[in-house]
Amino acid sequence: MSEIAWPAADPSSPYFCNGPTLVSFSGGRTSAYMLFMVLCAHGGVLPDYVVVAFANTGKEREETLRFVYECATRWGVQIRWLEFRSRKTSIPVEQRFEEVGYNAASRAGEPFENLITDKQYTPNAVMRWCTQELKVRVMKWFMQSLGYANWTNMIGLRHDEQHRVAKSKKPTRQAWSNSMPLDDAKVSNRDVRAFWAAQAFDLRLLPFEGNCDGCFLKARPKLWEIERTKPGTLKWWSDMEEGPGKGRFVTEYSYAELISDVRRQPDMFAGGLFDDDPEMDAECGSWCGEAA
Ligand code: SF4
Repeated sequence: MSEIAWPAADPSSPYFCNGPTLVSFSGGRTSAYMLFMVLCAHGGVLPDYVVVAFANTGKEREETLRFVYECATRWGVQIRWLEFRSRKTSIPVEQRFEEVGYNAASRAGEPFENLITDKQYTPNAVMRWCTQELKVRVMKWFMQSLGYANWTNMIGLRHDEQHRVAKSKKPTRQAWSNSMPLDDAKVSNRDVRAFWAAQAFDLRLLPFEGNCDGCFLKARPKLWEIERTKPGTLKWWSDMEEGPGKGRFVTEYSYAELISDVRRQPDMFAGGLFDDDPEMDAECGSWCGEAA
């Protein structure tokens, strides 16, 4: 049951869905804001053909999982929690992922580790297949398992993310076409921040702490800070490099070195931590619909 007094449905809203739509929810503030606006456009109740999905890699922070759960319960909307299981195209699509929930969601990196074990190498900034396999493709399989051959993929790209918007507007040969209502409505990061400042709950993470906890796209000082404030976070990443991944996520340094740096200098000053970081400002999975 929602705790919100929703406005009347507004079919003229850029957030209104006229046909089968996947609302891709990354677990970040921007896509949560978009979900809220989609709910507003439909008077608080989504049509059956509008599906909201969150793909869990197993390396999301607990705060993110809690935030996804809170959005669903406070706003009275069903969010489907999905996890990667297999890349085998010989098995039916519904067996390649699993639908879980807040309690059953993987928290020790299991989906991500299974994928690395299967591929036998680690992803990196150039070959960033983790997003495609763990998020984009899982959501595609989910929509296909529901019987949809074509749909709109609604992604949370803001008006101030034009380089990603432009990329996501390129036509694809996929089953879906992308829609970016935040861009259409000219929503900026400032608007999203103002929205969350006025809410009764929020994602209790700094921007660089979002997405996978030790994501290789985070700058080195941020990874140091993550390990310093939450010791042990980078161990899984180091284990992947030394185990099934058989190599580094980042050419310049290993995760074992990052952990060792923090142990040697636990009070090191990590300059530039709170600078704008365009890469980590992006919510993973929200704009990688060009492949899979
Ligand atoms: S957050 Fe980073 S590690 Fe996780 S799926 Fe996205 S790119 Fe890969």
